[in-house]
Amino acid sequence: MYRTHNCGELRIADVGKEVTLGGWVQVSRDFGALTFVDLRDRYGITQLVFDIEDDADLAERARKLGREFVVSAKGLVRERTNKNPNRDTGDIEIEVKEMTILNSSKVPPFTIEEETDGGDDLRMKYRYLDLRRGPVQRNIIFRSKLALETRKYLDSQSFVEVETPFLIKSTPEGARDFVVPSRMNPGQFYALPQSPQTFKQILMVAGYDRYFQIVKCFRDEDLRADRQPEFTQIDCEMAFVTQEEVLATFEGLTKHLFHHTLGVELPDFPHMTYDEAMKRYGIDKPDVRFGMELTDLNEVAQNKGFKVFDSAELVVGICAKGQVGLTRKQLDGLTDWVKRPQIGAKGLVYVKCNEDGSFKSSVDKFYSQEDLAAWAEVLGAEPGDLLLVLSGEEEKTRKQMGELRLEMGRRMDLMDPAEFKPLWVVDFPLLEWDEESERFHAMHHPFTSPKKADMERMLNGDHETMKSLRADAYDLVINGVEIGGGSIRIHDRQLQEKNFKLLGFTDEEAEEQFGFLMGAFEYGAPPHGGIAFGFDRLCAVMNGQNSIRDFIAFPKNNQGRDMMIDAPASVSTEQLDELGLMMKPEEKS
Ligand code: ASP
Repeated sequence: MYRTHNCGELRIADVGKEVTLGGWVQVSRDFGALTFVDLRDRYGITQLVFDIEDDADLAERARKLGREFVVSAKGLVRERTNKNPNRDTGDIEIEVKEMTILNSSKVPPFTIEEETDGGDDLRMKYRYLDLRRGPVQRNIIFRSKLALETRKYLDSQSFVEVETPFLIKSTPEGARDFVVPSRMNPGQFYALPQSPQTFKQILMVAGYDRYFQIVKCFRDEDLRADRQPEFTQIDCEMAFVTQEEVLATFEGLTKHLFHHTLGVELPDFPHMTYDEAMKRYGIDKPDVRFGMELTDLNEVAQNKGFKVFDSAELVVGICAKGQVGLTRKQLDGLTDWVKRPQIGAKGLVYVKCNEDGSFKSSVDKFYSQEDLAAWAEVLGAEPGDLLLVLSGEEEKTRKQMGELRLEMGRRMDLMDPAEFKPLWVVDFPLLEWDEESERFHAMHHPFTSPKKADMERMLNGDHETMKSLRADAYDLVINGVEIGGGSIRIHDRQLQEKNFKLLGFTDEEAEEQFGFLMGAFEYGAPPHGGIAFGFDRLCAVMNGQNSIRDFIAFPKNNQGRDMMIDAPASVSTEQLDELGLMMKPEEKS
């Protein structure tokens, strides 16, 4: 037997027992007569003691143990004189009688402890070592538990888990597809699914009523901390449902998951329309853990001779509580921050609400103390606060202010990672007009239904009308992160055709790509709708973390590389040839 117990379970009540433990050497400390070894496995760390007086040979071998050696040690559990209250097994130690070294280890390239000294690339290359670390293991185990609880809840709600194919045809959901050449059909390609969207709709047509899948999705996008080329969704679809029923079901799932994994009871989720979110927070995924809401200042700030504001479509401000003390340098820093290309503001106006009731602003030339007092009043500011104001074209400026609000929230430490503020954002626009390409994009995806009240206008309205159509589309937002998104779907061929047309598909293109779906709609498609949760993101947000990478066992780096197996990589010419991908000499440029 390699072990009778694991390294995390022995307690004071086990004193006197003969046990065998197996694990990795975390550290070995040599005190001459005594050698202490911390033995680690997934369950914890137990201290082993080797005494030169008892067995000199054994003690000598223990002294030579390197970090990450794998050993099995047999001995007696005894009470520690020097207890470690920070460890579950800290009251006991093992007085070792026999030890087998099961494997040696090279010196690891970084420390395998709670905090490591390893950089990102090194940790990715030696992922098996990083995965041994406590924080990473806890994340991966949390993920496993979350998946299990998801299945339990959805099963209790009569959902059926169905696997959909990975080798499919493109679904246009806004990102690029990963393509896979077909050996048996030279010159033709599969695409990896960006989501199982069309398949889950087909399952509703097929009468499965409630579907779910915890499923990999693939999108060939530029990567960020919260994006990976392959990621996991909790993907769901329901038939014969209204938007309210979908929201209630998945609010139920979210509450269940928080309760059963974190012991957190979430309150009922407020609903906020897209328009309201944009107006109050300048973003469609507001972080409502803090206020600092956007307030329009057009009425009080325009027509006082300051051209920049007078010519602006929108003048909008936020009130940063207690921030009057920001130095000139800090304010210049903020101005530079909003001027960065990612934000794109032209400048930043500030007003300091001094403790003595006076105001000091960057636009004192144009505004009197009374003028500034009026701004402060609209913004609900008090002495000690700082007002930050942006102006310009309405939509852009709101978004810029939304970003600035978040940045101030970060700088002022207003985002408590242990607090959870979920909400539903509803009533998204159906279509988004893109000035550059002069065409509509689907705000959610092309299968999303307009609101019932807007269907007639969609079928018969003019171009301008299309911009104002609202969809039965919704997002679940927690702490400023989009956790899930979904919609009620179109289930009628005529409406679906119209939508494709608005999105710039010709009839032939629509038929070629989605004829199967529209065809299915002609055989008794029930009304249906669904949602998909970003599973990796949900894991991260529930643990107050930003990076989804830490919740994925084998993630890719920012260049989309798996550093451990070193992929992507080239393939042999034979393989390329077999796939019909070898360029013939005359095709080479
Ligand atoms: N397929 C959608 C997505 O991946 C989710 C949905 O509409 O259910 O975002």
